Amino acid sequence: MCGISAIASHKPVAAKLLTALQNLEYRGYDSCGMALLHEGQLSLRKNVGAVDEVDALEKFRKMEGSLGIAHTRWATHGGVTKENSHPHYSNDKKFVIVHNGILSNYQQIQRDLKSKGYRFLSETDTEVFSNLVQEEYKQAENVETAFCNAIDKLQGSYAIAMITTHQPDTIFAVKKDSPLVLGINDGVNYVSSDINAFIAETRDTIILDDMEYLLVKNDNYVIKNLLTRKEKSKQVITVQWDRQTAQMGGFSHYMLKEIFDQPQTVRNALHVPNEQIQTIAGKFIEKEQSFCVGVGTTYYVAMVGTYLFSKYANLYVPSISADEFPTLIPVNKDNHVLFFSQSGETYDTRMAIRKARNCGAATSAVVNVVGSSISQEVDDCIFQGSGPEICVVSTKAAVSQIIILWRIALEVGVLRNHLSRKDADAFQGRFFKFSETIGQVLNEESGFIRDLASKTSRVRNWLFMGKGIYYPIALESALKMKEVTYLHAEGLPAGFLKHGTLAMVDEEMYSLFFLPYKDDSDLYNSTLMSIEEVKARNGKVVAFCAEDDDEIKKLLDFGLIIPKTDPELTPLIQLIMAQLFSYYSALNLGLNIDKPRNLAKSVTVG
Ligand code: GLU
Repeated sequence: MCGISAIASHKPVAAKLLTALQNLEYRGYDSCGMALLHEGQLSLRKNVGAVDEVDALEKFRKMEGSLGIAHTRWATHGGVTKENSHPHYSNDKKFVIVHNGILSNYQQIQRDLKSKGYRFLSETDTEVFSNLVQEEYKQAENVETAFCNAIDKLQGSYAIAMITTHQPDTIFAVKKDSPLVLGINDGVNYVSSDINAFIAETRDTIILDDMEYLLVKNDNYVIKNLLTRKEKSKQVITVQWDRQTAQMGGFSHYMLKEIFDQPQTVRNALHVPNEQIQTIAGKFIEKEQSFCVGVGTTYYVAMVGTYLFSKYANLYVPSISADEFPTLIPVNKDNHVLFFSQSGETYDTRMAIRKARNCGAATSAVVNVVGSSISQEVDDCIFQGSGPEICVVSTKAAVSQIIILWRIALEVGVLRNHLSRKDADAFQGRFFKFSETIGQVLNEESGFIRDLASKTSRVRNWLFMGKGIYYPIALESALKMKEVTYLHAEGLPAGFLKHGTLAMVDEEMYSLFFLPYKDDSDLYNSTLMSIEEVKARNGKVVAFCAEDDDEIKKLLDFGLIIPKTDPELTPLIQLIMAQLFSYYSALNLGLNIDKPRNLAKSVTVG
């Protein structure tokens, strides 16, 4: 995701802020800018494009001041334009801010502020915050109080840094569900989305937790709790990274970084405003028949959707691969088609949209890139806000789309009276807990998965199998394996095995089973039967299994232990673990993981 950076020093900071922007480039962005405070005046420069291009136009180094904020933006609300780039001033130009994340209640705040006479110069969600602080300052007459009162009104995810003419020696910063760190040095302090922004300046850092805020001057800093507004002391960590690792944000490949981004991208998907989810859910009710369409990974996302609509809304929503859609589906004005694309430029999906539109169907989409072609071609579009995905193979964007789809399916379930509002709402809390579980799984299970990959990376043929919702999860996992390892991995429904593919099974054949918890007894027992079928032919079996499932462990050649977590969200945990398995398998084979041969990130040709 994009980056924020701020520096409080006793010397000019423009050049150092520019370096920070360059160091944050690896996170991906579409525009950038900075604001500095000098002799009681704020100045701001920003534009669309790469840091070096914008610098050539705007001459960042010429900006004066020893206190400043900077930003690389990845648009979530409002197109990629100069006006929408950060920083954003308040109307009185006394406050200026940068923000990462999504303010999910921005429309409501904007309405309130407009009624008080505020004007908005951008289409972003962000701009409400600078004006909200201006408004709060009228009452509080104290910047810290105004800043905190304004934050109290926010919903969504944010890392924010602010400077103001009212208190010209201080950076104000806060975080919730978006990363923020403090860098500490002698006579100069840094605030940034990650340590990498200032790695050449200092390695002493404090990692901020949610609902903590910072008051940073050049010679001191204070961390406070947002709820109590009391000061906290936190441990300083000294980071030891080499330069190359630092450039990748501490990871050896973008694929691994993006897998580890997932707790954050899931939270971003949860912050997509409810109104947007409801608009698309309404289409499933208005129209006689809906379809879910994607291609490659997004086709498997769509397929997960078919299972979700069936379970939560008692509704059959067929999923179709976008490349087959134009010849297969006779759509009309009574239909609605929901499309998925990471880039928003996928050729096959655009052709399917064209067909749907020409036939009068309602169209909607979930995409990751604001301003992309697909976002403009459909009637309604949700931007998932996952931040750029640089590795060619999709990981975090796919999981985030599944979360959005899940929210849509729950909403459709409520509208169809198949699910109570209470049960649907309870999912919000379960999803947030799930985002924490992902972090825990990634940290605790990576070693085991890596170990398994080192033992199996030379296996030439894999069968990936699951039943029910685990079936599209198995398909997507097999695709991931093929994409990064070039090994043959075939995804199939576990129950399908004995109807043909079993003929291939011998001691050379490896199978990976996506096995649910025992409590999901129907799926568990029927998947178990397929495991037995493979074992009876001397095939090798790897399976996801619960820690305490001793019976199944006896059957397996390798078990991938899944921690006890929300049973309904277990398929997604297994998907994420399978992403790691593909990654480590490719790592063992010494392949070009972020740019696999023959593949392109955004397939814009037919
Ligand atoms: N939601 C904000 C915008 O679209 C911030 C995006 C970001 O995190 O870069 O401007």
